[in-house]
Amino acid sequence: MLTEKLQINSITPHPSVEYWSVCKVESLFETPFLELVYRAAQIHRKYFNPRAIQLSTLMSIKTGGCPEDCGYCPQSARYHTGVQNQQLLDVDEIVAKAKIAKARGAGRFCMGAAWRGPKPKDIEKVTEIIKAVKSLGLETCGTFGLLQDGMAEDLKEAGLDYYNHNLDTAPEHYAEVIGTRRFDDRLSTLGKVRKAGLKVCCGGIVGMNETRKERAGLIASLANLDPQPESVPINQLVKVEGTPLEDAEELDWTEFVRTIAVARITMPKSYVRLSAGRSGMSEEMQAMCFMAGANSIFYGDKLLVTGNPEEDGDQLLMAKLDLEPENAENKKAS
Ligand code: SF4
Repeated sequence: MLTEKLQINSITPHPSVEYWSVCKVESLFETPFLELVYRAAQIHRKYFNPRAIQLSTLMSIKTGGCPEDCGYCPQSARYHTGVQNQQLLDVDEIVAKAKIAKARGAGRFCMGAAWRGPKPKDIEKVTEIIKAVKSLGLETCGTFGLLQDGMAEDLKEAGLDYYNHNLDTAPEHYAEVIGTRRFDDRLSTLGKVRKAGLKVCCGGIVGMNETRKERAGLIASLANLDPQPESVPINQLVKVEGTPLEDAEELDWTEFVRTIAVARITMPKSYVRLSAGRSGMSEEMQAMCFMAGANSIFYGDKLLVTGNPEEDGDQLLMAKLDLEPENAENKKAS
């Protein structure tokens, strides 16, 4: 059980952040389903316009061949999943995709590279890419793995807005899923990211054979980051053949919606992103997630290497639900 706040910013403490014990989060999970969704919806309306959905596009800029052993990931070199390895793409190719993303309404362009962490020569290339994407007027986000000292500062200077680094799962469940790094390694990189002045995108994955208590442990760990992450992607495991979690037990849809609701309640000012796994969700389930406080989605292109619902489908669903892409005018709660 977590007994103290997970302080990732030793310079500027934020005592206003409420401490969430695992027990307290677990008791939220146990709230009657519709009560929980209603409570989350109320909190959502307090801080956000519930009709505005932040749209991000994610592009894999370096795919596969990763030395890590994350049990959920088809990009690990240890598993035979059929993913085609792709070296770091050229700036021009990435910029062309970013332009398309912007034209289709994305406000943020997220770039993912399958590394344990970047090497100094990778940082040189990546900073060039970030500068080029930023010059298009898009917000930028990168997910490049564990960072060494000074790298976060280089990324910030190049114009990176957000760094994505997920806690993946509860500390107690971490070793069941990943053996090549520790939960504390993630906290260490998150600390570097905050210290450099980058915004934090940090979430996790559910449906990896964790218990409800462990799901509560993941949410408590996220909510106790101080300050809380600006963006919290909640992923549903996509079971990819060839990965150790290909036969993971199915998580009931209500449990996923509960996780979204609990994330919204415990991190009221964060964007809660409906992330990987969305392509397998019905429209009704996605609508329930938006009701429970999800207010960000990945949109278009491919979500790393697993499918993302077609953009047309997204547009149609947003129109049916009277949702609109978030922009500077509509983002605030009325
Ligand atoms: S999740 Fe990231 S670090 Fe883990 S195997 Fe996949 S690409 Fe590598």
